[in-house]
Amino acid sequence: MQISPSVRAVQVPDESPMHPMYTNIYLVGRDQTLTVDSGEALDRYRWMLRGYLAATEKTEIALAAITHHHSDHSGNLRWASEVLKAEVVVHKKAVPLLRGKLPARDRVRTLDTDEVIDMGGGVRPRVLFAPGHSVDSVAYYLEDEGVLFTGDTLLGSSTTTVNELGPYRRSLQMLVELPNLKVICPGHGAIVHDPRERLQSLIAHRDMRERQILDVLDDRRPRTPWEIMLAVYPGLDTRLRRAATGNVEAHLRDLEQQGRVLIHAGKPRRPNPLKRAREVEHARHVQRTLHAAKALEAKEKREQLRLQESPPTAQWAVQPTYEIVGRAKD
Ligand SMILES: [Zn+2]
Repeated sequence: MQISPSVRAVQVPDESPMHPMYTNIYLVGRDQTLTVDSGEALDRYRWMLRGYLAATEKTEIALAAITHHHSDHSGNLRWASEVLKAEVVVHKKAVPLLRGKLPARDRVRTLDTDEVIDMGGGVRPRVLFAPGHSVDSVAYYLEDEGVLFTGDTLLGSSTTTVNELGPYRRSLQMLVELPNLKVICPGHGAIVHDPRERLQSLIAHRDMRERQILDVLDDRRPRTPWEIMLAVYPGLDTRLRRAATGNVEAHLRDLEQQGRVLIHAGKPRRPNPLKRAREVEHARHVQRTLHAAKALEAKEKREQLRLQESPPTAQWAVQPTYEIVGRAKD
């Protein structure tokens, strides 16, 4: 889908309750192409990107970038390098968090905050450091076309999870002040065509959550983040409770830093070595079973192929034969 003169979106259908609708891969550039995020290390992302490239692009992927290290954004970096022959570009804060996911060193370039990536033809996205959703979150801004790539800092069809609230608020404020902002290309969900309003409403949303949390604590009875979450998010899809608790915790850490709430330290459960050993054994069993199932499936496929290629001798003791009616030609 064309977003602006030099930006295209590949929207891969996604059923995750965390980010409904789509996980997005963006293509930026005219002469050469930069990808912003490239999905999880699953075939459907790779097929969809390759299908899009085959159908509509005249150029190959020159550079592969990400908005942060989470695996639903960075999972295909090594693949993009090895199969698409792209150079991988990542912000310096993401490098230590991407261990095992990056291609060989000479195929990776480190990006600085405010660096401009020159894609040729006047297409020059700028790297903005926007921590909060994760410690290494960046946005890319193509000011000439007013297109901002936010990753998970702002999502198109849902709110997001916040790791550090103070930096997150400052990041939103920085983004809302960008000149010429026309459209936001989020990491997940629909394209956002009212970017300032959406950023403003997200800032207001966090303020509202903060008030709600303080209201719940107003009776001076200490509560756990889980209890606060249940009070603040009534009727929430149960699959999102852990993520919502994470957001409550981000608020509580922030309020504690401001000296507005007090923490009574918890006590972690002591690890039970017997239980742990049982879990390890179970995980091994699952791995072995999955491995055996895959091997069996492959064998079955080979067998079917063999049947298609060989004459059907198994079901006949004597195979029927055919000959032409009438006298044979002399
Ligand atoms: Zn994500």
